Amino acid sequence: MVKDKKKVIEKINFLIDFAISQKQESNPYIYDYINISFNLAKKINYRMPKEIHRKVCKNCFSIRSLENTKIRTLREKKNGVIVKSIKLHCLSCNHIKKIRV
Ligand SMILES: [Zn+2]
Repeated sequence: MVKDKKKVIEKINFLIDFAISQKQESNPYIYDYINISFNLAKKINYRMPKEIHRKVCKNCFSIRSLENTKIRTLREKKNGVIVKSIKLHCLSCNHIKKIRV
């Protein structure tokens, strides 16, 4: 069992920021960095904040960019209330993620 949840969360954020910073250098281990950070989050039962879901795809562990994602905004009525959300469609694995705004 991991004792220090805060430290692990810091590590997760660091790994994801690092993976994004390595994108321009086409580092072949980007997939692993994101994979490790999502595994760490699972271990400590931590729900990734939506900022991270905007940056990476949790299904194929790739960094989102304009070439591999379709972005749509949605307006849905739920119980008479209009709910705005963003739909992120990853083209490399066809995974769709909805994020409430
Ligand atoms: Zn994907």
